[in-house]
Amino acid sequence: MAYEHRSRPAARACPRLSWGSTAGRVNLAAAAAFLFASLPAIAAPAATTAASTAAATVAAVPAAGAPPAGGYILNDTHFHLTNYVQEGLDIHEFLKIMGNKVGRVALFGIPLQQTWSYGNTGDFAPTYYLQTDAPLYYYSFTDAVIATAYRSLKEADRARFDPMITGFNPADMYAADHIRRVLTTFPGVFSGIGEFTIHKEFVSAKIAGETASLLNPALDRILDFAGEAGLVVLLHNDIDMPFPKPGQDPYLVVQMRDLIRRHPRTMVIWAHIGLGRVVHPVKDQLGIMERGLTDPGLKHLHLDISWDEVAKYLVATPETTRLVADLINRYPDRFLFGTDEVATATQEKYLKVFDMYAPLLAQLTPEARQKLLRGNYERLFDEARRKVRAWEREHVP
Ligand SMILES: [Zn+2]
Repeated sequence: MAYEHRSRPAARACPRLSWGSTAGRVNLAAAAAFLFASLPAIAAPAATTAASTAAATVAAVPAAGAPPAGGYILNDTHFHLTNYVQEGLDIHEFLKIMGNKVGRVALFGIPLQQTWSYGNTGDFAPTYYLQTDAPLYYYSFTDAVIATAYRSLKEADRARFDPMITGFNPADMYAADHIRRVLTTFPGVFSGIGEFTIHKEFVSAKIAGETASLLNPALDRILDFAGEAGLVVLLHNDIDMPFPKPGQDPYLVVQMRDLIRRHPRTMVIWAHIGLGRVVHPVKDQLGIMERGLTDPGLKHLHLDISWDEVAKYLVATPETTRLVADLINRYPDRFLFGTDEVATATQEKYLKVFDMYAPLLAQLTPEARQKLLRGNYERLFDEARRKVRAWEREHVP
């Protein structure tokens, strides 16, 4: 439900987090303006150099994409190859865009298809969900598209992708059966499920059929099966509603916490740490995140900082940047980098989010920076590949 990722004019929003407290939210919007003014001056040498190099060498990317001597700069936990009308980039072209900068990518389309309702938009063919009031619907064929794209690659190039299953309706008790069917139909391909969405501003309400919910046992069946098969779960769930009243109970945070606690065997990555285009961080956001990271029942929870809308918040001011860096430095195993780009046509645009994070990366310890950009991805997805292949050996004739 929630993918705004596609034509992505500017951004999607991040929700705010809290594991149960009703903290007020802080308006970081003002800080965002400062961000753009201060970006170049802030970054420290190491990360700044990497970021500017990435941007500066766009034109010179070698087609081969062989890893540079020092290794790739980053792995991308969050990339959409196709958009809301199931169109996108040829995967071989995308390999060139990854070039020698991006090593591995968690690859998926978008499970939602925007209806072209003639009665609503006439001859105008919408390609994004904000362009029409017509509903979105689940487009399961996306999984076959992604599997086919992956299989069209040479063996060595396949190693750079971790395809993800997304074409299921999380409000359907049969969703877990779809995921199982995709694994048995395309063995040797998938490492995880997602990005799929439960609550997402502007999107959830547009999806035909029953509205998804963190309370729906259909979602428990999905996470149970992911745990059984070893699939990594990349879940988008806004941390709050877009326009809550002051003091409104942030019930989504509590529901999210309880959901993840119910599935201790399942590796979960919370996309965009719950933030969105309109959903702002709450005042106590860092405290909420820290309570989640220290909760012994949530050891399997990870956070991706993908999306330019999220970067906008996290590096909004020097103070915010410092506090976020401090949190990542103290919990270096729990954060993953991602772009959340959709079918990006140039490397410059593809690495935009990475460049935005230069001030944050500059304040990370070498260990935390390596884990955020590459190490945590490799740990989670290497384990998923091993477990899912083992599950397939056992269940695919
Ligand atoms: Zn998302």
